[in-house]
Amino acid sequence: MYDVIIIGCGIVGASAAFELSKYDISIAVLEKDNDVAEGATKANSAIVHAGYDPTEGSLMAKYNIKGAAMMKDIAEQFDVIYKQCGAFVLAFSDEDMLEIEKLLKRGKNNGVAGIEILSAQKTLDMEPKLSRNVKAALNAPTSAIIDPWDLCTAYAEMAVRNGVELKLSAPVMDIIKLDDRFIVKTDKKIYEAKYIINAAGTHADVINDMVCNHKFTIVPTKGEYYLLDKKDSNVINRTIFQCPNEKGKGVLVTRTVHGNLLIGPDAQAQNDRDDTSVEQHALDYIKEASLRSVPDIAFRSVIRSFAGVRANSDIGEFVIGQAEETPGFINLSAIKSPGLTSAPAIGLDAVDILKDAGLKMEKKNYYQERRKVVRFDELSRKEKNELIASNPLYGKIVCRCEHITEGEIIDAINGVIPALSIDSIKKRTRAGMGRCQGGFCGPKIAQIIADQTGASLLEVLQGRSGSEILISKTKQREVL
Ligand SMILES: Cc1cc2nc3c(=O)[nH]c(=O)nc-3n(C[C@H](O)[C@H](O)[C@H](O)COP(=O)(O)OP(=O)(O)OC[C@H]3O[C@@H](n4cnc5c(N)ncnc54)[C@H](O)[C@@H]3O)c2cc1C
Repeated sequence: MYDVIIIGCGIVGASAAFELSKYDISIAVLEKDNDVAEGATKANSAIVHAGYDPTEGSLMAKYNIKGAAMMKDIAEQFDVIYKQCGAFVLAFSDEDMLEIEKLLKRGKNNGVAGIEILSAQKTLDMEPKLSRNVKAALNAPTSAIIDPWDLCTAYAEMAVRNGVELKLSAPVMDIIKLDDRFIVKTDKKIYEAKYIINAAGTHADVINDMVCNHKFTIVPTKGEYYLLDKKDSNVINRTIFQCPNEKGKGVLVTRTVHGNLLIGPDAQAQNDRDDTSVEQHALDYIKEASLRSVPDIAFRSVIRSFAGVRANSDIGEFVIGQAEETPGFINLSAIKSPGLTSAPAIGLDAVDILKDAGLKMEKKNYYQERRKVVRFDELSRKEKNELIASNPLYGKIVCRCEHITEGEIIDAINGVIPALSIDSIKKRTRAGMGRCQGGFCGPKIAQIIADQTGASLLEVLQGRSGSEILISKTKQREVL
């Protein structure tokens, strides 16, 4: 029996797992997908929000502010790329002016440092490619951007190094509450734990309802994006928001930490909790909306469109804490935006929530610093030569767009949480993230996975289970 089972290994489950892994307790994380960071953590705007948006006194405000304050140090500690680029919220009308005044006041009440309203002239001096229709902007210099995949992987890797057992492809199907423990059923196995942490993202209400009174309903809300090639990303330096509306923070234009331009998202409620399909009408909407902020966006340079699903809920607030009627069951649920920003602080609080719930735990010796990740392209010529001398595979470029080497891909395959699909390799190394989106390197990566793992090429997956990319002639005949 485990002391704690965490359900879900997105950024919230991973951060809780890491914080708890510093203690002398046994922990398992059950994740339904075959890799970490597959839910909302995989597809979002990657903004570390400054904290002017959530209502004063809300859990979202509390965790946003605390999480944003922790993020820079965590990124440094885990060797995750983080850039404090700042953000503008643009006002185009008198109504928008009232809105940014409101955000300024709220930001100050929430304790956000350095926020101010800039005149149109000052706004354009600082971001010359913005629309001339801008009347003013809220400037939030502490807003930042981060790599959400790497942050989640780092948290999960550190947790595993500290003794947490990560069970991938382990969807929780049912939970039974006994007097002294929970029985947790997955599709293949049955686990037992004294405490459960529910970090199941868009499925969190289903997990809650297995053993608790119904308290919230997730309203899965899709957000779609365009990603542009790096060569045309130089139109802005900061994250550019429009005024928020009843649907969310509105369409933004931002750089990613790797230098692409990211545009989106819209907000569409849907029934399916995992449907990340992309629709033309949504892409048309975000294109039109973003051009209001930055008229010169080169949409000819789009290299990808994608979507993520928010765990919005009918109560519009994070659900965090032990369920009164079910002692030992803890929700870290309904974590919509600013959930990425908040996750470090939510994970930290999971420790106190468990202590308050009666779990005895003492600090143990644990790993805090992540190993340095080899990012070959960022090294100096001297460092590159030294690395190639130590392992010639770092001299073989596999992804020509992002300059990712065979050495880095093999590191990912043999990592603490092995990357065993083409998409997992992409999340760990960026191979396939460039202009050709894996058109050239995909087959080579599939071969490297097969060689390293001893699997047949027919077994290599693009991403989730069932996404084999090749089919044998015999199988094809069977299918047909
Ligand atoms: C379009 C969009 C834009 C966003 N932009 C930002 C932003 O810029 N800044 C910000 O701070 N936040 C942003 N967010 C919010 C942020 O991405 C989320 O709040 C955060 O990723 C939630 O993390 P999570 O771990 O709770 O959920 P997830 O990442 O969804 O993880 C939940 C995990 O639980 C697993 N799971 C579900 N059911 C089961 C089961 N039965 N058994 C086992 N495992 C299960 C899932 O497979 C998944 O891996 C955005 C979200 C979206 C969708």
